[in-house]
Parts: sequence; structure tokens; C-alpha cells
Amino acid sequence: MMLIRLIYFSRNRLDEWYDRKDAGIAEILATSVANNLRDCITGALICDERWFVQALEGAENKVSAAFERILRDQRHRDVSLVTMQAVSERRYPNAAMACVMRSQDNDDLFRHYGEDACFDPRQVRPERLSDLIEAVVQRRATGEPAWTKKHATNAA
Ligand code: FAD
Repeated sequence: MMLIRLIYFSRNRLDEWYDRKDAGIAEILATSVANNLRDCITGALICDERWFVQALEGAENKVSAAFERILRDQRHRDVSLVTMQAVSERRYPNAAMACVMRSQDNDDLFRHYGEDACFDPRQVRPERLSDLIEAVVQRRATGEPAWTKKHATNAA
């Protein structure tokens, strides 16, 4: 089986569909986890008030089918494919869909990888978007400041 990783970003429209954004996220997450477990897809979804950024990894036909459903979803718009590439291993092997919203706990990561206080994925290089998703998910899992460690290593 060829493993692929797909990354996209899109405009968040949850405020047009739900009174509370966290209710929208909960509904998307419930469907995503059920479908992704069925299809052996893993990945992560991060979002702020304006944007979603998601990584999906799994068999090419399953990831493509999920992405086609996601493209049709009215709860977001302007879906932009960032990368779809063959990979040797999963980055989120234990998560049918890790999901983290921007908050005080990870705001520094959005600023750091987005290189601007006002996060805009259109302005961010693909590999940095990928690193942002990973850092935000890792922060939630460990509470550690992932980028400061990497930064310190690079500077040494
Ligand atoms: P159905 O459930 O039959 O729905 C029919 C249509 O209505 C679809 O176009 C659906 O997208 C849309 N829809 C469903 N519920 C609502 C609602 N409450 N309000 C408005 N429109 C609605 N699905 C996955 O399987 N895996 C994922 O990783 C995944 N990630 C997602 C990430 C984001 C940011 C969003 C917005 C959605 C995500 N989804 C994901 C959900 C996906 O878009 C589909 O809703 C889901 O896969 C079910 O597809 P379906 O064709 O069976 O649609």
C-alpha cells in the first residue's frame, strides 16, 4: 500500500452554521473519527477563527475519497490543497483525527510558524504549515514548546 500525506487549508465558516464554534468542531470531529477509523486514515486538524489546516495520511484511494467529501462540505470554503505526497511513515499514527483549536496555550506556535500575529496559511510555506500542525499537536500532548527546542538546536 502506498502511504500518502495530504495537507490543505480552508476558510472556516462554522459561525454561519453553528451558534457555538466548538459545537461545530465536535460534530466534524465525531464524523471524522468514525470515518477515518473505518478507512485507516490518521491525521490532525488545527483551526483558528478564520482558518482550518488539516493533514490526512493513509492509502491514496481512501485519502482522496475523504478529501473529495471534505471539498463538498459547506462548513468551510476556498479549500486549497497544499501538498499530496508519498511518505514512508505516518506522523500521527495514533490519531484518527487529532484536533486542536488556537488558544492561549498554542498562540505562540501560530505566530512563530505563521511569521505574523495574524495567521494566514496562504503566506506560509508548505513545510512550515506541516511543522505548525505537528508542533500544535505535540504541544497539546506534552505541553512542551516544540518550536523553541527546534530553534535552539538549529541555532547551536
Ligand atoms: P453527509 O454526512 O451525507 O452530508 C451531506 C453533505 O452535507 C456533505 O457535503 C457534508 O459535507 C455536508 N454536511 C454534513 N453535516 C453538515 C452540517 N452540520 N452542516 C453543513 N453541512 C454539513 N470527514 C472525514 O471523513 N474525515 C475527515 O478527516 C474530515 N475532516 C473534516 C475537516 C473539516 C474542516 C470539515 C469541515 C469537514 C471534515 N470532514 C471529514 C467531514 C466531511 O466533510 C463530510 O461531512 C463527512 O466525511 C461525511 O461525508 P458524506 O458525504 O457522508 O456527507
